[in-house]
Amino acid sequence: MVLPMLIISISMGAAAWMVIDRNDRSGEITGPVILAYAKEAEAVCQEAFSEQEREKAAALAEAQKKAEPEDTESEEMESQEPEAPKEPDTIPNAEDEEVDPDMAPKLRIVLDPGHGGPGLKDEQELGAIYRDTYEKYLTLEIAKAMQEELSQYGNIEIFMTRDTDRALTLKERAAYAESVGGDLLVSLHLNASLEHNFYGSEVFVSAFDHFYARGAGVGESILNQLTDYGFVSKGVKTRLGSKGADYYGIIRECKSLGIPALIVEHGYMDEDSDWARMNTTDALKALGRRDGAGLAAYYGLEKGKILSELPTIDETIPSSVVRPDTTPPEEVWYRKEQQGDGRWLITLHGVERESRVMYYDYSLDGGETYSSLKLWDKGDTIQFPMSLTGEEQLAFRVYNNYELRTEIGN
Ligand SMILES: [Zn+2]
Repeated sequence: MVLPMLIISISMGAAAWMVIDRNDRSGEITGPVILAYAKEAEAVCQEAFSEQEREKAAALAEAQKKAEPEDTESEEMESQEPEAPKEPDTIPNAEDEEVDPDMAPKLRIVLDPGHGGPGLKDEQELGAIYRDTYEKYLTLEIAKAMQEELSQYGNIEIFMTRDTDRALTLKERAAYAESVGGDLLVSLHLNASLEHNFYGSEVFVSAFDHFYARGAGVGESILNQLTDYGFVSKGVKTRLGSKGADYYGIIRECKSLGIPALIVEHGYMDEDSDWARMNTTDALKALGRRDGAGLAAYYGLEKGKILSELPTIDETIPSSVVRPDTTPPEEVWYRKEQQGDGRWLITLHGVERESRVMYYDYSLDGGETYSSLKLWDKGDTIQFPMSLTGEEQLAFRVYNNYELRTEIGN
């Protein structure tokens, strides 16, 4: 009983979990390998560098000691003086009003880089495995950049569930968030899908009351940033387990400790256009900065400024459970009209009442093979031209943003 629950809860994006195929090395091997190796190289360099620095510093201290005559008096005087008050670490205020940084209210934000650890017994520690790299490395890179970004804002303290490649259970992550008095936990992930065809960013949040409201608010704000960066948004979503609780373990564990949490699935590692936005260290850092900017914007924080009061946030607490969409798009049909020159105008219709229509794809061979996923424009009906002989066995699939689809053929 405990084990299956645990497996389910550990999987971030059930899709990602089920799909992971160690042997799948499809796609070009570009950034990730470099990235994985670069990290090692960087660690080695940093170590060597700090070793050098230490030696230099020691030599310098030694030299200074020799140069300066012993002056016990001044030393004594110094030690009698009360400790100099710390300069406000950063952040002078734009208005002249001085806010004592120690007195200023602070949000305590916990960043949770998804996965981590050697993955020897539990492959889930590695996260999704594509392009010869592991999700666990990429999420850590994103988290560090998010931390860096957020450190430039006033009124915020940032905590990381891990800042190295180590294994942590979801329970431990949530417990850590509680131990530091976390106001919110943001779990950072990358996605993958069974047919390697989905793309876009999405955020999962609790389906319940203020946990939903806070998670969805921050999530939408982060998604705004990610769409600015070029991702398509699949929206803020909920997911429930068979017993009606939140499906994702990190969200459930945090909620049980009173902490709103959200999972940011930035994009799909196994899809080329998404991958192009995360395939270098710089790209991952950009993602982290976007996450940070989105979060800060939601809370009304300002870069380089300490506010004496946190801005109030308008949040609508849902009056009932925010249920995920569990049915595919309704009322799906298509029509084709010959335009001459082998061009046909296709009209494709799909209605989605519980969520929204997100993508479609088409088949020319009666559903044997399908095109890549095309983005659905707004509205219930879209039109586009196709070059056809008229002999094709056309079929279409219309998807909502919960990856559920309705297929129609001729
Ligand atoms: Zn993940």
